[in-house]
Amino acid sequence: MAEPVPYLSLVIPCYNEQDNVPELLRRVEAALGRIGKPFEVLIVDDGSTDNTPRLLAEGMRRFPWLRVLRMARNSGQSAAFEAGFAAARGQVIATLDADLQNDPEEIPRLLPLLQEVDMVTGWRRDRQDTAFRRWQSRMANRIRNWITEETVNDSASSLKLYRAEVVKGLKLFRGAHRYFPTLAKMRGYTVREEPVKHSPRFAGTAKYGFRNRAFVGIFDLIGVRWMKKRYLRYSCSELRREGPEATQ
Ligand code: UDP
Ligand code: MG
Repeated sequence: MAEPVPYLSLVIPCYNEQDNVPELLRRVEAALGRIGKPFEVLIVDDGSTDNTPRLLAEGMRRFPWLRVLRMARNSGQSAAFEAGFAAARGQVIATLDADLQNDPEEIPRLLPLLQEVDMVTGWRRDRQDTAFRRWQSRMANRIRNWITEETVNDSASSLKLYRAEVVKGLKLFRGAHRYFPTLAKMRGYTVREEPVKHSPRFAGTAKYGFRNRAFVGIFDLIGVRWMKKRYLRYSCSELRREGPEATQ
């Protein structure tokens, strides 16, 4: 029997998350089983050096809906998203983190919102990170909004849902995952921000610290501001030939 074409593709970047993978697969299956439509889950193994690859291979034997993409080396979250978006077959694409800070159960809840807008982005209103991390993120969002002339409360939450065309063909850059709402709007799509649950990491350690997040940001900010201003937005149509020589 031919495999059904998935309606929804869930893309999950995953780097050294061995203690989260089994629970992630279990919870994702329970949550997506509820949407009542065929789905696929693309876990993008971002060059993990722990037991993640072995656990994912085991998962593929058990779950027909699981696809695994393996980056040749650790390439960062934006690259993992880009690779996942390119491979996704669904007309809806959702994204999550692998560490279960986002609740997969939120996907069926948010899915109907895509009837009204092109993209739904999670807002971790009650964020379960250290006080320092929360402060850092609040400042980052404030500066991001100021420089990129945005109004997003939480642009970097990984829990997002898109109509596939929003991200298909979108060429990303390092750090782009912090600007998805802006990039979507820049391309003319509508975005809605929706409060979502947030939990502490289920297991394992965070992959970012202050240094690899704060300082690279300024270049990205200027880049996004420039891109937003200079992005080509136009519509163009070909004229129909009139008169006797017209071929239809
Ligand atoms: N991640 C990745 N490649 C990296 C760094 C992180 O694929 O180089 C994944 C990681 O496994 C997790 C997600 O991106 O699923 C977010 O990372 P993390 O939880 O460390 O970030 P935080 O939640 O602290 O922002
Ligand atoms: Mg996390």
